[in-house]
Amino acid sequence: MKTFCGRANPTTGSMEWVEEGEDYDYHQEIARSRYADMLHDKDRNVKYYQGICAAVSRVKERGEKAIVLDIGTGTGLLSMMAASAGADFCYAIEVFKPMANAAVKIVERNGFSDKIKVINKHSTEVTVGPDGDMQCRANILVTELFDTELIGEGALPTYEHAHKYLVQEGCEAVPHRATVYVQLVESKRMWSWKKLFPVHVEAEDGEKILVPPSEMENCPGVPSVCDIQLNQMPLSDFTTLSDVVTMFSVDFSKPVQSASTYYRVQLEPVKSGKAQIVLSWWDIDMDPSGMINCTMAPYWVKPTSALQWRDHWMQCVYFLPNEEPVLQGEKLYLTACRDEYSVWYNLQKAREGENKAFEEELKADVRVESPVCRCRAHLLWNRARFGELNDHNRTHQYIRSLRKVLKKDSVCLCISDGSLLPVLAHYLGAKQFFKANHLEDKIKIIEARPELLKPSHLEDKKISVLVGEPFFTTSLLPWHNLYFWYARTAVSTHLASNVTVLPQSASLHMMIVEFQDLWRIRSPCGICEGFDVQTMDDMIKDSLNFRESKEAEPHPLWEYPCKSLSDPQEVLTFDFTKTVPQHCLSTEGSVKLLRKGKSHGAVLWMEYHLAADVSVSTGLIQMSNEKGNCEWNPHCKQAVYFFSSVIESEILSEPTAVTYAINFDTKTGEIAMDFKL
Ligand code: SAH
Repeated sequence: MKTFCGRANPTTGSMEWVEEGEDYDYHQEIARSRYADMLHDKDRNVKYYQGICAAVSRVKERGEKAIVLDIGTGTGLLSMMAASAGADFCYAIEVFKPMANAAVKIVERNGFSDKIKVINKHSTEVTVGPDGDMQCRANILVTELFDTELIGEGALPTYEHAHKYLVQEGCEAVPHRATVYVQLVESKRMWSWKKLFPVHVEAEDGEKILVPPSEMENCPGVPSVCDIQLNQMPLSDFTTLSDVVTMFSVDFSKPVQSASTYYRVQLEPVKSGKAQIVLSWWDIDMDPSGMINCTMAPYWVKPTSALQWRDHWMQCVYFLPNEEPVLQGEKLYLTACRDEYSVWYNLQKAREGENKAFEEELKADVRVESPVCRCRAHLLWNRARFGELNDHNRTHQYIRSLRKVLKKDSVCLCISDGSLLPVLAHYLGAKQFFKANHLEDKIKIIEARPELLKPSHLEDKKISVLVGEPFFTTSLLPWHNLYFWYARTAVSTHLASNVTVLPQSASLHMMIVEFQDLWRIRSPCGICEGFDVQTMDDMIKDSLNFRESKEAEPHPLWEYPCKSLSDPQEVLTFDFTKTVPQHCLSTEGSVKLLRKGKSHGAVLWMEYHLAADVSVSTGLIQMSNEKGNCEWNPHCKQAVYFFSSVIESEILSEPTAVTYAINFDTKTGEIAMDFKL
């Protein structure tokens, strides 16, 4: 079956009807899935295996048959571990059909078909009884249903149901328990992902300070967790205000309640400062004794030698509704509220001398509703965008270039989503500005798509300065922001003949890199803890190759360190002073590899040339040393094109150069690329 999907092209802005086979969604799901990453997570796998062996032994020692329920079996890995450990029978539940099919094949290939029954259902649909999916309730419950926030994938309701209907009372659970830890910190860097900081503008008539409106200042923001690779956050970017504290834990061997609740702990800051952020992570104990522990603790909490790189579980950043000055030794209460799927935090100060009464008051005052953005800025700007708007260096580059191009009588048009450029330009003296906010008489917001712009929108004036950052919320890959070029083309008739366009041009840059870890997400696993999971590797490979031309993927590289193997190279340029040409823009060439290493892929990013001598990069900021360590723009995602032949170790000798062919199709806005090693 084929379906037609309507979508706006992120680069050209035009509405397109795309014909997609029904396989498309599923290939996307598999190709972008975290199954490969999980199979590479040695620490996780080893500990699950140990925990499962221990649970099977305990049941056998009691003289019982070991009947396992594995909810969310994926490849069937945990069931195969249980069967090898001596379990009598395993029910392996998997809701996602392609995975359930894969599990059947993998189980068969490893010779466990008589011990493992794969059931393609959601666990809440599973029936127990002589005619049911399961003959009887299980006495061992094995699951791996956790995300970075622990409960975001629905572990709690799944456990709640399983204890009611699918497992025996007093069953063994692997993992046995999960514990959530928190640490209170002050961090200008992370706080800048939630709050808009004042912007200082040096204008002709003195310094102007652009302050966010009070409804934005007081807005609690959005409830969703911010999950990041906290191990890439240097100690200099935050100050810990408290020790690491246990927030709550869940015992999976007992009935679990998923209904909304809260947990409260008392804290005493180890340092005075501004409480802004709660950093959080969890660990799981695979057995009741706590001897088999798998932890997501970041580097400053545990020795680096014990760090296992993984992308399927990271760490959480929670933003307090507002920053709170705290004093060393002062008594604080930190409250974690949760519903079935998410957690949010609140901080309160204990009042001197009236503890009992205050605690009663606190109990009554639990804010069970999760934060809701009232100012709408948190809906328009994501965390990275807040960080970008708060980047003083970047703002300074825009101010410098605006100053170069603006004249007293400039009539400006800004095309960018949620941009501060109009306000900056206003402070710098632009007479009239279209499309922005608040300064009603000076700045006019036009709610029209560029191609529908009419002279009346512009009060019949011609635009003398056209500006854009450019930034659009629909962009996923760096070059999607070339939409600015298409919009510029669409408004051509409204531009004065001597119009200034800022940025005047953009360029696409490329570099060959060796990743420290990111390559793992594309690397086949083969044998996992002694089990043959090649069927899964093949499936992922098929899905990645489903599209004829392979695609680049967006990744924020500040979280995924890599080493450059070549110099950065400019591969294409886009001239915004002209309209988008009819013909394709293409280039071919070769890059020399300067350092030894594995060419895992090419990284691509855009640079914008705002005015003479002023450029901003959305990718490489600096190459710091001889070893080729790179510093990336922390607010943007870069495009990564993986070289599968290198990752799959099909190439034996190290290449000395990489040849490339890159084509920008101006009709579709798509960039196709091909690399040869
Ligand atoms: N157990 C495997 C895979 C874990 S990924 C391993 O450890 O390697 C989690 C899997 O659980 C996903 O495939 C997802 O589709 C499935 N899943 C999540 N909740 C489920 C539920 N309630 N019932 C059935 N499958 C579920």
